[in-house]
Order: sequence, then C-alpha cells, then structure tokens
Amino acid sequence: MEDKTPIGLREQRVRRKRVNKIRTSIVAGVFVWMLIITVLAVVLLVRLFQLEGRLKELEESVISVEQEVNHEDRKSGALSEENAESVADMNSVEHEIGEAIQPEAQDEDTPKAYLTFDDGPSENTARILDILKEKNVKATFFVIGQEGEEAEALYRRIVEEGHTLAMHSYSHKYNEIYASVEAFAEDMNHLQTYLAEVTGVTPTIMRFPGGSSNHVSSLPMSEFIRYANEKGLTYFDWNVMSGDATGQAYTPEQLIQNVMKDAVRYQNIVVLMHDAATKAPTAEALAPMIDQLRESGFTLLPIDEDTELVQHIAADSVSQ
Ligand SMILES: [Zn+2]
Repeated sequence: MEDKTPIGLREQRVRRKRVNKIRTSIVAGVFVWMLIITVLAVVLLVRLFQLEGRLKELEESVISVEQEVNHEDRKSGALSEENAESVADMNSVEHEIGEAIQPEAQDEDTPKAYLTFDDGPSENTARILDILKEKNVKATFFVIGQEGEEAEALYRRIVEEGHTLAMHSYSHKYNEIYASVEAFAEDMNHLQTYLAEVTGVTPTIMRFPGGSSNHVSSLPMSEFIRYANEKGLTYFDWNVMSGDATGQAYTPEQLIQNVMKDAVRYQNIVVLMHDAATKAPTAEALAPMIDQLRESGFTLLPIDEDTELVQHIAADSVSQ
C-alpha cells in the first residue's frame, strides 16, 4: 500500500532527490573518467609520434658517426677489404675550396654534386622545386608513397622539371619493409607501379630507408641488396650530410656549413637532405648552398644510371 500521508510524500520526495543526486554524480564520475582516459590516450599518442621521430633522427646520426669512423679508417690507411670498394667510390681526388668558378660542363675532372631530398613529397616540395628552377639546378627526389591530387601533382612536377624521381619505399616503416625480403619487394613494387601510373616514368634508382648500412633492419641488409641487384634497382647512399635529420635543430647557415665542411673531401658528393613538412630550414638553406657549391667548383647534377655509385655497402660486395 502506498503511503499517501504528507509525511510519506515528503519522504518519497527526499528519497527521489537522493537517488537523482547519486545518479547525477555517477554520470558525472563516468564522464570525468572518460575525459581523463581520452586526454591520456591523446598525450600518449603524441608522445609515441615524438619518440618515433626521435628514433629516426638517432638512426641517421648513428649512420653519420659510422661515416666519420670510415673517414678516420681511410685516413690511417686501415681499410678492411669489405668496405674498400665503397670508400673508393666516395674517395676520389679531394679538391680545394676557393677554386675559380667553373662553367657547368661535364668533364671528368669537374667535381660533381648531387643534391638529394628524401621522404617527400611534402609541404616544402613546391618551394624546393621553385628554388631549383630559379637556380637552374636538377636534383634527385627519393620519394615515399603519398596519395591524393596534391602529391600526384608534385610527383609529376619533379619529372616534368627534369629532376630524378627515385624511390625510398612506399611506407617508410622500417619494421614493415625490413621484416622480410617479400615485404620489402611488395612495398617497392607498390611504389614503383604507383609512380609509373602517376608520372609515366618507372623509377629504377632508389635509396634504402636509413641507408644500406642501417642497423634497424632485423635481417642482414645483404638480403635486400641482393633483391635490389636482381631487380635492376640501383641504390645510392650519401657521403655528405646536411644534418637536417639529426636531433639538432640546425639553422640554414649551419646546414650549409655542414655540407661545405664535408664537400671538400670528395670529388663527387651526394648530399643528404630531407623534403618534409618540418624541414623548412632545408628549403631556406638551398639557394645559398647551391651558390656556395658552385663557387667551390661543383657542377650540380641529378643522379642517373651513369652516376658514380656512392654506397655505404657496395652492391657488388653481395653475392648473387
Ligand atoms: Zn627517409
């Protein structure tokens, strides 16, 4: 029987209020928890991306340290047979800075500089292309797979403006591409087919993500080099780094200094730079870098099949 007396009604009202209050606080509690979890997830995701970027930077600085070690070995004449060939590729006659400006003729003795841009296309590609056009320089773009009209237009522009469209892998995910030769082959085929569809040009020049001497691959790099050799893909590493992918945030002036410091060591230089949204200083450094390289006697060229190889691990050191 329901209690209809005024006291009973009041009690009911009080009880209902209490129940409502509890319900409201439960809902609020759940909401706050969901909010905390969401914020935590976002923070962790951002941190993950930051760490991924940092990892990539560290890998590239490890490679640069190895190169330094190679230079030292070379100086002291303590060359192992293994890397003698690749070092010989990099170690032609060194030239002096401050030579007279030479016309961009292609004779054997002229030092040659190959500017290379990895990881594009990006927000900076158009700017880089504009500068190259203005300076009448042809370069090499080691691109990754990007979908969409904007990216497609940039791949086409690279080709139309006379640069070398070269491959760097579709996904650029080390753990995926270096998981197996099959995975690597699938990724590279994907990129090659895609670029051929978009531009009408089938690239045969490539750069391994992290370089041929990287230590991120779970399998020996010789497995992937063997595959590249079999497929008729020519890979290029680098012997001069701008440093734009190291942990340091170099200014455009410092990037140029880094390049010029190493440029004088070689007759032919392959300069590692990056075409990525975060690499605005690289684009900024480009015009004065081109001027300084020319002043030092370099002819600037795009990489092609006839370009003298610059490889950290020589392709012909891997048996078929
Ligand atoms: Zn890369």
